[in-house]
Amino acid sequence: MDYAATILSKLPGASKRDHGVRRLIETLQSYLPEEQLAVITAAYEFGANAHFGQTRKTGEAYITHPVAVAQELAEMHLDAQAITAAILHDTVEDTSASLDEIAEQFGSEVALLVDGVSKLDQIQFRSHAEAQAESFRKMMLAMIEDIRVILVKLADRLHNMRTLGAMPAEKKKRIARETLDIYAPIANRLGINRLKVQLEDLGFKHLHPFRYRVLEAALKKSQGSQKQIVKKISEEFSSAMADEGIEGDVIGRQKHLYSIYRKMAEKRCQLSDVVDVYGFRIIADDVNTCYQVLGIVHGLYKPMPGRFKDYIAIPRINGYQSLHTTLFGPKGLPLEVQIRTREMDRLAESGVASHWIYKADEKSNASPQQRTREWLANLEELQQSGTSEEFLESVKVDLFPDRIYVFTPKGDIMPLPKGATTVDFAYAVHTGIGNRCVAAKVNRGLVPLRTELRNGQTVEVITAKGAKPNPNWLTFVRTAKARTAIRQHMKNLRSSESVDLGKRLLDRSLKDLGSSLRKIGKVRMAAALEELGLDNNTALFEQLGLGERLAPLTARFLAGTGEDSDVRESTASLIIAGTEGMVVSYAKCCFPIPGDDVMGYLTAGRGVVIHRNQCGNLSNFRKQPEKWISVTWEKDIELEFACQIQTDTRNKPGVLAEVAATIADCGSNIEQVEVLGRHEDCSVLSFLLQVKDRAHLAKIMRSVRNMKNVIRVSRESA
Ligand code: MN
Repeated sequence: MDYAATILSKLPGASKRDHGVRRLIETLQSYLPEEQLAVITAAYEFGANAHFGQTRKTGEAYITHPVAVAQELAEMHLDAQAITAAILHDTVEDTSASLDEIAEQFGSEVALLVDGVSKLDQIQFRSHAEAQAESFRKMMLAMIEDIRVILVKLADRLHNMRTLGAMPAEKKKRIARETLDIYAPIANRLGINRLKVQLEDLGFKHLHPFRYRVLEAALKKSQGSQKQIVKKISEEFSSAMADEGIEGDVIGRQKHLYSIYRKMAEKRCQLSDVVDVYGFRIIADDVNTCYQVLGIVHGLYKPMPGRFKDYIAIPRINGYQSLHTTLFGPKGLPLEVQIRTREMDRLAESGVASHWIYKADEKSNASPQQRTREWLANLEELQQSGTSEEFLESVKVDLFPDRIYVFTPKGDIMPLPKGATTVDFAYAVHTGIGNRCVAAKVNRGLVPLRTELRNGQTVEVITAKGAKPNPNWLTFVRTAKARTAIRQHMKNLRSSESVDLGKRLLDRSLKDLGSSLRKIGKVRMAAALEELGLDNNTALFEQLGLGERLAPLTARFLAGTGEDSDVRESTASLIIAGTEGMVVSYAKCCFPIPGDDVMGYLTAGRGVVIHRNQCGNLSNFRKQPEKWISVTWEKDIELEFACQIQTDTRNKPGVLAEVAATIADCGSNIEQVEVLGRHEDCSVLSFLLQVKDRAHLAKIMRSVRNMKNVIRVSRESA
């Protein structure tokens, strides 16, 4: 007794109660080796157990559905993993079975397939807009790593459509529309004609039940009367081919209802124009024979001018190959004839799935991605003529996307580049949203703004009035739109800050000369601006604030005292309040804080950089006294400034934590700790702190110095 027979003998009786698995095994037996049948039987047992007690809307046991899905794929001769995954595709989602169990029993690849199908089920199509459907299709394709996931999903949808009758009318229509909008086009894009045609007809049937019935009846009627003619012409073709010694099958072709309906809608023609066309398909052994057959049928009936298409030489975009011609048949009836090889016929039916068809002799270890690439490479080869490179390019992009697709809270789909964050999303929605965003939710949970988004997530941005973009965002945003908007905002901000600072610097320098902006007057100002080649005061102030032009020289120029006179030490200081923004910064070499004696150094493009008077770097800058401005601190500054201290501590366990706790007790945040050196009995630690002023720092240093394991504390000056 053969192995398959043994398996079959163990299965439930050959009645409806066998859940269709008997038929499945019989189909698989025709192309899969025995040991693989055993795995599939085990999957059936696993699935039947998991789904035990569940029923479909039709009243049947639930397991009949996954078995039917597997049957569909078995008829396409797909490999054992795809079939196993099809049988298990609803177990993780709908039963207590876990992915780990599946991985353990059926291997990680099957588990990945099941997981992929479950994930696709989780994304919901929420709108009917055409552009939305297109994005949704792309999102689905973007989510899959193995094309077999989509094959299982398409077969799943097909069986659900077949059993849709049991659903309420409203739901039927929604699912039917979704099938026509999303699933049939995916099947078409992947060249799987067999699934596409069935999905379209079932979608049409449930979306427009009345139109479907009328069309079906009309077609049946005409087919009844056509039968004799089709038979007669088929025989004519066959015997003409036999006369030339050519073997081949002639098939009277069934029309696909949805394509007839679409043709009628597009061309606004009568039913009779579309229905009274006789379709034939001739399958020949090889390409040469196809052309020979074409000659034969053209010899029998006159071809209709302009209707001959050579899709063998120039294949269709999804890889479809065939010769198409229309003949003037008896009494002028049009005869549509397709001629192709068996291989072309198979490819036309399965498209990308053909690369997953089980081949006994093949020991391919190609990864899922590679196999899909093989299919694309095949298409590309077929497309040498270059007719539809653009389409091919877009299929490629769809299957190997560098984009992700996420939902807005309203259910609109937003495409973003891979690695995009919630900030990119905010800017993609609107620049204003991006500029004011303060927090984000992904799938209704709060996440940090820098969170990378993944396919199918729902993203919501929380904005606040008066919120501003953070320059830090530039370190993680991925989109040009976000980057440009943040930079633009920084530039605007900097420009308004530098205008303020520039005006103050100029005012101060004018005061040194016993003058002021008011004393200079509009006329002199206008003349001076023209001479400097500037449009207005604002431009002048901005240049001054950014350090691109020096205030003392400009002041003398405006006051007319001549630029060549000596640069005098300024008497009035620039007062720093810490709120000047990006045009005033604090040197990272000496970390000045309020209370320190400081100087300002004008750096072109960066404005004023504040240094402590005893900073070691000052000597380098002394050569350019005109760039130095005297600055003083505003009284009672309520801000925090970065500052660095160094400690020598005894090497005792927990000493670092003790120092940190003492610093925290003094009301300071530690931004950074570094171990600068470790000696036999002591370590040198460096802390970057946030302090208010010198008094605050002194208090911290005193507390640290008093600790028993601290030998020395000092403020660093590089
Ligand atoms: Mn299902």
